[in-house]
Amino acid sequence: MTPKMAVDAMNPTEINRKRAERYIGAGLMDIYDKVMASERLSFEDGVRLYQTPDLSSVGYLANIVRERMHGDRTFYVRNQHINYTNICNKFCKFCSFYAKKGGHAPYEMDMAEVRRKLLAHIDVPITEVHMVGGIDPRLPYSYYLDLLHTVKEVRPDIHIKAFTMVELVEIQRQAKKPLEDVLRELMEAGLDSLPGGGIEILSERVHQELFDRKLDGEGWMDVARTAAKVGLTQYATMLYGHIETLEERAEHLVRIRALQDETRHFVTMTPLSFHPEGTELENIPHPTGYDDLRNIAVSRLMLDNFEHIKSFWIMNTPQITQLALWYGADDVDGTVQEYEITYKDGEQGNKSQSLTRKSMVKMIEEAGRTPIERDSHYREVPQITELESAQERTYIPIPVLA
Ligand code: SF4
Repeated sequence: MTPKMAVDAMNPTEINRKRAERYIGAGLMDIYDKVMASERLSFEDGVRLYQTPDLSSVGYLANIVRERMHGDRTFYVRNQHINYTNICNKFCKFCSFYAKKGGHAPYEMDMAEVRRKLLAHIDVPITEVHMVGGIDPRLPYSYYLDLLHTVKEVRPDIHIKAFTMVELVEIQRQAKKPLEDVLRELMEAGLDSLPGGGIEILSERVHQELFDRKLDGEGWMDVARTAAKVGLTQYATMLYGHIETLEERAEHLVRIRALQDETRHFVTMTPLSFHPEGTELENIPHPTGYDDLRNIAVSRLMLDNFEHIKSFWIMNTPQITQLALWYGADDVDGTVQEYEITYKDGEQGNKSQSLTRKSMVKMIEEAGRTPIERDSHYREVPQITELESAQERTYIPIPVLA
Protein backbone atom coordinates (compact mmCIF):
# COMPACT_ATOMS: atom_id res chain seq x y z
CA MET A 1 0.00 0.00 0.00
CA THR A 2 1.36 3.44 -0.94
CA PRO A 3 1.42 6.20 1.75
CA LYS A 4 -1.46 7.93 -0.10
CA MET A 5 -3.52 4.74 -0.13
CA ALA A 6 -2.81 4.29 3.59
CA VAL A 7 -4.13 7.82 4.32
CA ASP A 8 -7.17 7.28 2.10
CA ALA A 9 -7.99 4.16 4.11
CA MET A 10 -8.11 6.10 7.40
CA ASN A 11 -11.28 7.57 8.89
CA PRO A 12 -11.36 11.32 9.81
CA THR A 13 -10.63 10.59 13.48
CA GLU A 14 -7.49 8.66 12.56
CA ILE A 15 -6.38 11.43 10.21
CA ASN A 16 -6.87 14.05 12.93
CA ARG A 17 -4.95 11.86 15.36
CA LYS A 18 -2.06 11.54 12.92
CA ARG A 19 -2.02 15.30 12.44
CA ALA A 20 -2.11 15.85 16.21
CA GLU A 21 0.75 13.41 16.69
CA ARG A 22 2.91 15.45 14.34
CA TYR A 23 2.22 18.47 16.52
CA ILE A 24 2.16 16.95 20.00
CA GLY A 25 4.69 14.15 19.64
CA ALA A 26 4.25 10.54 20.68
CA GLY A 27 4.94 11.28 24.37
CA LEU A 28 1.61 12.96 25.09
CA MET A 29 -0.67 11.06 22.67
CA ASP A 30 -2.28 9.06 25.49
CA ILE A 31 -3.36 12.38 27.02
CA TYR A 32 -4.54 13.57 23.60
CA ASP A 33 -6.72 10.45 23.37
CA LYS A 34 -8.19 11.15 26.79
CA VAL A 35 -8.86 14.79 25.88
CA MET A 36 -10.59 13.78 22.65
CA ALA A 37 -12.71 11.23 24.54
CA SER A 38 -13.49 13.83 27.28
CA GLU A 39 -11.96 11.43 29.75
CA ARG A 40 -10.76 12.69 33.13
CA LEU A 41 -7.00 13.18 33.50
CA SER A 42 -5.24 11.61 36.48
CA PHE A 43 -2.88 13.16 39.03
CA GLU A 44 0.00 11.47 37.13
CA ASP A 45 -1.19 13.06 33.87
CA GLY A 46 -1.19 16.43 35.61
CA VAL A 47 2.39 15.96 36.81
CA ARG A 48 3.49 14.99 33.28
CA LEU A 49 1.82 18.07 31.84
CA TYR A 50 3.78 20.15 34.34
CA GLN A 51 7.04 18.31 33.68
CA THR A 52 7.15 18.14 29.89
CA PRO A 53 9.38 20.81 28.35
CA ASP A 54 7.00 20.94 25.38
CA LEU A 55 4.73 23.76 26.53
CA SER A 56 3.19 24.37 23.12
CA SER A 57 1.84 20.79 23.11
CA VAL A 58 0.25 21.34 26.52
CA GLY A 59 -1.29 24.54 25.17
CA TYR A 60 -2.51 22.74 22.04
CA LEU A 61 -4.30 20.18 24.22
CA ALA A 62 -5.79 22.85 26.50
CA ASN A 63 -6.99 24.83 23.48
CA ILE A 64 -8.96 21.80 22.26
CA VAL A 65 -10.93 21.84 25.52
CA ARG A 66 -11.24 25.63 25.56
CA GLU A 67 -12.65 25.79 22.03
CA ARG A 68 -14.91 22.80 22.63
CA MET A 69 -16.47 24.62 25.61
CA HIS A 70 -16.43 28.25 24.48
CA GLY A 71 -15.27 28.52 20.89
CA ASP A 72 -13.66 31.95 20.49
CA ARG A 73 -15.79 33.57 23.19
CA THR A 74 -13.70 35.41 25.79
CA PHE A 75 -15.30 36.95 28.85
CA TYR A 76 -14.54 40.13 30.76
CA VAL A 77 -16.38 42.06 33.46
CA ARG A 78 -16.60 45.66 34.61
CA ASN A 79 -15.91 45.56 38.33
CA GLN A 80 -14.62 47.54 41.25
CA HIS A 81 -12.35 46.30 44.02
CA ILE A 82 -12.63 47.55 47.58
CA ASN A 83 -10.04 46.47 50.13
CA TYR A 84 -11.47 47.66 53.40
CA THR A 85 -8.36 47.15 55.56
CA ASN A 86 -4.74 46.12 55.18
CA ILE A 87 -4.34 45.40 58.89
CA CYS A 88 -3.83 41.68 59.33
CA ASN A 89 -2.68 39.32 62.06
CA LYS A 90 -1.84 36.36 59.80
CA PHE A 91 1.58 37.53 58.53
CA CYS A 92 1.62 35.25 55.49
CA LYS A 93 5.14 35.10 54.09
CA PHE A 94 3.98 35.46 50.48
CA CYS A 95 1.86 38.57 51.10
CA SER A 96 2.94 42.11 50.21
CA PHE A 97 -0.39 43.67 51.05
CA TYR A 98 -0.70 43.69 54.82
CA ALA A 99 0.66 46.70 56.73
CA LYS A 100 4.17 46.11 58.01
CA LYS A 101 7.30 48.09 58.75
CA GLY A 102 8.70 49.47 55.52
CA GLY A 103 5.54 48.56 53.60
CA HIS A 104 2.11 50.10 53.18
CA ALA A 105 0.79 52.32 55.98
CA PRO A 106 -2.08 50.68 57.91
CA TYR A 107 -5.61 51.74 57.02
CA GLU A 108 -9.15 50.75 57.81
CA MET A 109 -12.06 52.17 55.85
CA ASP A 110 -15.12 53.46 57.62
CA MET A 111 -18.47 53.40 55.84
CA ALA A 112 -18.10 56.99 54.66
CA GLU A 113 -14.88 56.00 52.90
CA VAL A 114 -16.49 52.94 51.32
CA ARG A 115 -19.36 55.11 50.12
CA ARG A 116 -16.93 57.69 48.75
CA LYS A 117 -15.05 55.01 46.78
CA LEU A 118 -18.26 53.67 45.30
CA LEU A 119 -19.57 57.12 44.39
CA ALA A 120 -16.27 58.00 42.73
CA HIS A 121 -17.15 55.49 39.97
CA ILE A 122 -20.92 55.70 40.05
CA ASP A 123 -21.09 56.69 36.37
CA VAL A 124 -19.27 53.51 35.31
CA PRO A 125 -21.64 50.64 34.42
CA ILE A 126 -19.94 48.07 36.63
CA THR A 127 -21.78 44.90 37.56
CA GLU A 128 -19.64 43.56 40.39
CA VAL A 129 -17.93 44.79 43.56
CA HIS A 130 -15.09 42.59 44.73
CA MET A 131 -14.36 43.17 48.41
CA VAL A 132 -11.64 41.56 50.52
CA GLY A 133 -9.33 42.68 53.30
CA GLY A 134 -6.91 41.64 56.01
CA ILE A 135 -7.82 39.95 59.29
CA ASP A 136 -8.18 42.70 61.87
CA PRO A 137 -9.49 41.19 65.13
CA ARG A 138 -10.68 44.62 66.30
CA LEU A 139 -13.43 44.73 63.66
CA PRO A 140 -16.79 43.62 65.09
CA TYR A 141 -19.33 41.45 63.25
CA SER A 142 -21.48 44.52 62.61
CA TYR A 143 -18.65 46.05 60.54
CA TYR A 144 -18.93 43.32 57.90
CA LEU A 145 -22.72 43.62 57.75
CA ASP A 146 -22.35 47.39 57.42
CA LEU A 147 -19.92 46.94 54.54
CA LEU A 148 -22.45 44.89 52.61
CA HIS A 149 -25.35 47.21 53.45
CA THR A 150 -23.34 50.23 52.37
CA VAL A 151 -22.47 48.76 48.97
CA LYS A 152 -26.09 47.77 48.33
CA GLU A 153 -27.34 51.19 49.43
CA VAL A 154 -25.12 52.93 46.87
CA ARG A 155 -25.47 50.28 44.15
CA PRO A 156 -28.65 48.25 44.85
CA ASP A 157 -28.27 46.00 41.78
CA ILE A 158 -24.61 45.22 42.08
CA HIS A 159 -23.28 41.70 42.63
CA ILE A 160 -21.10 41.58 45.76
CA LYS A 161 -18.29 39.06 45.67
CA ALA A 162 -16.63 39.29 49.08
CA PHE A 163 -14.61 37.64 51.85
CA THR A 164 -12.08 34.85 51.50
CA MET A 165 -12.48 31.68 53.57
CA VAL A 166 -10.04 33.14 56.10
CA GLU A 167 -12.10 36.29 56.49
CA LEU A 168 -15.25 34.19 56.90
CA VAL A 169 -13.65 32.28 59.78
CA GLU A 170 -12.79 35.60 61.45
CA ILE A 171 -16.30 36.96 60.82
CA GLN A 172 -17.77 33.83 62.40
CA ARG A 173 -15.44 34.22 65.37
CA GLN A 174 -16.72 37.76 65.86
CA ALA A 175 -20.35 36.74 65.36
CA LYS A 176 -20.10 33.84 67.83
CA LYS A 177 -22.65 31.88 65.79
CA PRO A 178 -22.51 28.77 63.56
CA LEU A 179 -20.94 29.51 60.17
CA GLU A 180 -24.11 28.53 58.33
CA ASP A 181 -26.13 31.15 60.26
CA VAL A 182 -23.45 33.77 59.66
CA LEU A 183 -23.39 33.09 55.93
CA ARG A 184 -27.17 33.39 55.71
CA GLU A 185 -27.03 36.73 57.55
CA LEU A 186 -24.28 37.97 55.27
CA MET A 187 -26.40 36.94 52.28
CA GLU A 188 -29.37 38.82 53.68
CA ALA A 189 -27.11 41.86 54.01
CA GLY A 190 -26.11 41.60 50.33
CA LEU A 191 -23.39 38.98 49.90
CA ASP A 192 -23.82 37.21 46.54
CA SER A 193 -20.71 35.06 46.08
CA LEU A 194 -17.28 34.27 47.51
CA PRO A 195 -14.00 35.09 45.76
CA GLY A 196 -12.30 31.92 46.99
CA GLY A 197 -8.75 32.53 48.09
CA GLY A 198 -7.29 31.91 51.51
CA ILE A 199 -5.56 28.59 50.83
CA GLU A 200 -3.06 29.49 48.05
CA ILE A 201 -2.26 25.84 47.43
CA LEU A 202 -3.73 22.77 49.11
CA SER A 203 -0.54 21.42 50.65
CA GLU A 204 0.04 20.98 54.37
CA ARG A 205 3.78 21.46 53.82
CA VAL A 206 3.29 24.84 52.12
CA HIS A 207 0.67 25.79 54.71
CA GLN A 208 3.14 25.12 57.53
CA GLU A 209 5.96 26.99 55.84
CA LEU A 210 4.17 30.04 54.49
CA PHE A 211 0.87 30.71 56.23
CA ASP A 212 0.49 28.57 59.33
CA ARG A 213 -1.64 31.19 61.13
CA LYS A 214 -4.43 30.73 58.59
CA LEU A 215 -6.80 27.80 58.40
CA ASP A 216 -5.44 24.65 56.77
CA GLY A 217 -6.67 22.85 53.66
CA GLU A 218 -9.26 20.71 55.43
CA GLY A 219 -10.60 23.77 57.25
CA TRP A 220 -10.75 25.71 53.98
CA MET A 221 -12.70 22.93 52.30
CA ASP A 222 -15.14 22.72 55.22
CA VAL A 223 -15.92 26.43 54.86
CA ALA A 224 -16.38 25.93 51.11
CA ARG A 225 -18.77 23.03 51.74
CA THR A 226 -20.86 25.16 54.12
CA ALA A 227 -20.93 27.98 51.56
CA ALA A 228 -22.17 25.54 48.92
CA LYS A 229 -24.84 24.26 51.31
CA VAL A 230 -26.34 27.74 51.79
CA GLY A 231 -26.28 28.39 48.03
CA LEU A 232 -23.27 30.67 47.62
CA THR A 233 -21.23 30.33 44.46
CA GLN A 234 -17.47 30.50 44.75
CA TYR A 235 -14.40 31.18 42.63
CA ALA A 236 -11.25 29.07 43.05
CA THR A 237 -7.62 30.16 42.84
CA MET A 238 -4.14 28.63 42.91
CA LEU A 239 -1.14 30.75 43.88
CA TYR A 240 1.91 29.35 42.09
CA GLY A 241 5.56 30.25 41.71
CA HIS A 242 6.67 30.34 45.38
CA ILE A 243 7.87 27.18 47.17
CA GLU A 244 5.34 24.67 45.86
CA THR A 245 6.44 21.63 43.84
CA LEU A 246 4.94 20.55 40.51
CA GLU A 247 3.35 17.59 42.31
CA GLU A 248 1.73 19.97 44.82
CA ARG A 249 0.25 21.99 41.96
CA ALA A 250 -1.23 18.85 40.41
CA GLU A 251 -2.50 17.75 43.83
CA HIS A 252 -4.16 21.14 44.36
CA LEU A 253 -6.04 20.81 41.08
CA VAL A 254 -7.11 17.22 41.83
CA ARG A 255 -8.40 18.18 45.29
CA ILE A 256 -10.28 21.23 44.01
CA ARG A 257 -11.78 19.07 41.26
CA ALA A 258 -12.92 16.47 43.82
CA LEU A 259 -14.52 19.20 45.93
CA GLN A 260 -16.29 20.53 42.85
CA ASP A 261 -17.62 17.02 42.12
CA GLU A 262 -19.10 17.10 45.60
CA THR A 263 -20.48 20.65 45.75
CA ARG A 264 -20.77 21.93 42.15
CA HIS A 265 -20.56 25.48 43.51
CA PHE A 266 -17.33 26.67 41.86
CA VAL A 267 -17.63 28.82 38.76
CA THR A 268 -14.09 29.71 37.71
CA MET A 269 -10.49 28.74 38.43
CA THR A 270 -7.91 31.53 38.43
CA PRO A 271 -4.25 30.52 38.59
CA LEU A 272 -2.47 33.43 40.32
CA SER A 273 1.10 34.28 39.44
CA PHE A 274 3.12 34.96 42.61
CA HIS A 275 4.64 38.43 43.01
CA PRO A 276 7.62 38.20 45.37
CA GLU A 277 8.22 41.96 45.62
CA GLY A 278 7.57 43.29 49.13
CA THR A 279 7.09 39.80 50.62
CA GLU A 280 9.31 37.65 52.82
CA LEU A 281 10.10 35.59 49.72
CA GLU A 282 11.76 38.36 47.74
CA ASN A 283 14.69 36.08 46.88
CA ILE A 284 12.39 33.88 44.76
CA PRO A 285 12.32 34.95 41.10
CA HIS A 286 9.00 35.99 39.60
CA PRO A 287 7.26 33.19 37.63
CA THR A 288 8.11 33.31 33.93
CA GLY A 289 5.60 33.71 31.11
CA TYR A 290 6.28 30.05 30.36
CA ASP A 291 5.12 29.16 33.87
CA ASP A 292 2.08 31.45 33.64
CA LEU A 293 0.90 29.84 30.41
CA ARG A 294 1.50 26.33 31.68
CA ASN A 295 -0.59 26.87 34.81
CA ILE A 296 -3.48 28.19 32.72
CA ALA A 297 -3.23 25.22 30.34
CA VAL A 298 -2.89 22.51 32.98
CA SER A 299 -5.78 24.00 34.96
CA ARG A 300 -7.97 23.84 31.84
CA LEU A 301 -7.01 20.23 31.19
CA MET A 302 -7.33 18.95 34.76
CA LEU A 303 -10.49 20.82 35.81
CA ASP A 304 -13.00 19.11 33.56
CA ASN A 305 -15.83 20.15 35.91
CA PHE A 306 -14.99 23.88 35.83
CA GLU A 307 -16.77 26.01 33.29
CA HIS A 308 -14.21 28.82 33.17
CA ILE A 309 -10.46 29.35 33.46
CA LYS A 310 -9.36 32.93 34.05
CA SER A 311 -6.13 34.61 33.04
CA PHE A 312 -5.84 37.44 35.57
CA TRP A 313 -4.08 40.04 33.43
CA ILE A 314 -3.18 42.18 36.42
CA MET A 315 -1.02 39.39 37.82
CA ASN A 316 0.43 37.99 34.60
CA THR A 317 0.35 41.05 32.24
CA PRO A 318 -1.97 41.75 29.30
CA GLN A 319 0.64 40.29 26.92
CA ILE A 320 0.66 36.88 28.60
CA THR A 321 -3.12 37.02 28.86
CA GLN A 322 -3.38 37.42 25.09
CA LEU A 323 -1.37 34.23 24.64
CA ALA A 324 -3.29 32.52 27.43
CA LEU A 325 -6.44 32.81 25.32
CA TRP A 326 -4.83 30.09 23.17
CA TYR A 327 -3.65 28.08 26.19
CA GLY A 328 -6.99 27.33 27.82
CA ALA A 329 -8.20 30.66 29.25
CA ASP A 330 -11.64 31.99 28.31
CA ASP A 331 -11.86 34.84 30.84
CA VAL A 332 -9.61 37.85 31.47
CA ASP A 333 -11.26 39.32 34.59
CA GLY A 334 -12.07 43.00 34.88
CA THR A 335 -11.59 46.27 33.08
CA VAL A 336 -11.80 48.87 35.80
CA GLN A 337 -8.88 48.08 37.99
CA GLU A 338 -5.62 49.35 39.21
CA TYR A 339 -3.04 47.22 40.91
CA GLU A 340 -0.24 48.43 43.11
CA ILE A 341 2.74 46.55 44.37
CA THR A 342 5.24 48.44 46.49
CA TYR A 343 8.78 47.26 46.03
CA LYS A 344 10.95 47.34 49.09
CA ASP A 345 13.86 48.93 47.25
CA GLY A 346 11.53 51.73 46.18
CA GLU A 347 13.21 51.81 42.80
CA GLN A 348 10.25 50.59 40.87
CA GLY A 349 7.81 52.31 43.21
CA ASN A 350 4.13 51.60 42.99
CA LYS A 351 3.15 49.66 39.93
CA SER A 352 -0.29 50.62 38.69
CA GLN A 353 -2.17 49.04 35.86
CA SER A 354 -5.54 49.71 34.36
CA LEU A 355 -7.35 48.72 31.20
CA THR A 356 -10.39 50.53 29.91
CA ARG A 357 -13.21 48.53 28.36
CA LYS A 358 -11.99 49.67 24.97
CA SER A 359 -8.43 48.47 25.51
CA MET A 360 -9.71 45.21 27.02
CA VAL A 361 -11.79 44.59 23.89
CA LYS A 362 -8.80 45.47 21.71
CA MET A 363 -6.56 43.11 23.68
CA ILE A 364 -8.99 40.22 23.16
CA GLU A 365 -9.70 40.98 19.50
CA GLU A 366 -6.01 41.39 18.71
CA ALA A 367 -5.52 37.86 20.06
CA GLY A 368 -8.09 36.61 17.55
CA ARG A 369 -10.87 35.94 20.06
CA THR A 370 -14.38 37.36 20.51
CA PRO A 371 -14.88 39.65 23.54
CA ILE A 372 -18.05 39.17 25.57
CA GLU A 373 -18.84 41.48 28.46
CA ARG A 374 -20.33 39.36 31.24
CA ASP A 375 -21.81 39.76 34.70
CA SER A 376 -20.77 37.65 37.69
CA HIS A 377 -22.96 34.77 36.46
CA TYR A 378 -21.41 34.89 32.97
CA ARG A 379 -24.56 36.34 31.47
CA GLU A 380 -23.89 38.63 28.54
CA VAL A 381 -24.20 42.35 29.40
CA PRO A 382 -25.72 44.76 26.85
CA GLN A 383 -23.01 47.13 25.63
CA ILE A 384 -22.83 50.70 26.97
CA THR A 385 -19.99 52.55 25.33
CA GLU A 386 -20.84 56.21 25.93
CA LEU A 387 -19.31 56.13 29.43
CA GLU A 388 -15.84 55.29 28.23
CA SER A 389 -14.31 58.58 29.30
CA ALA A 390 -15.68 58.23 32.82
CA GLN A 391 -14.13 54.81 33.04
CA GLU A 392 -10.76 56.23 32.09
CA ARG A 393 -10.80 58.26 35.31
CA THR A 394 -11.30 55.34 37.66
CA TYR A 395 -8.77 54.35 40.28
CA ILE A 396 -9.22 51.09 42.15
CA PRO A 397 -6.30 49.49 44.01
CA ILE A 398 -6.12 45.71 44.41
CA PRO A 399 -3.75 43.95 46.81
CA VAL A 400 -2.22 40.50 46.55
CA LEU A 401 -4.81 38.54 48.45
CA ALA A 402 -5.20 34.86 48.11
S1 SF4 B 1 -2.70 36.96 52.45
FE1 SF4 B 1 -4.50 37.72 53.52
S2 SF4 B 1 -4.43 36.69 55.51
FE2 SF4 B 1 -2.37 36.53 54.65
S3 SF4 B 1 -1.26 38.30 55.47
FE3 SF4 B 1 -2.08 38.88 53.46
S4 SF4 B 1 -4.02 39.89 53.97
FE4 SF4 B 1 -3.43 38.68 55.76
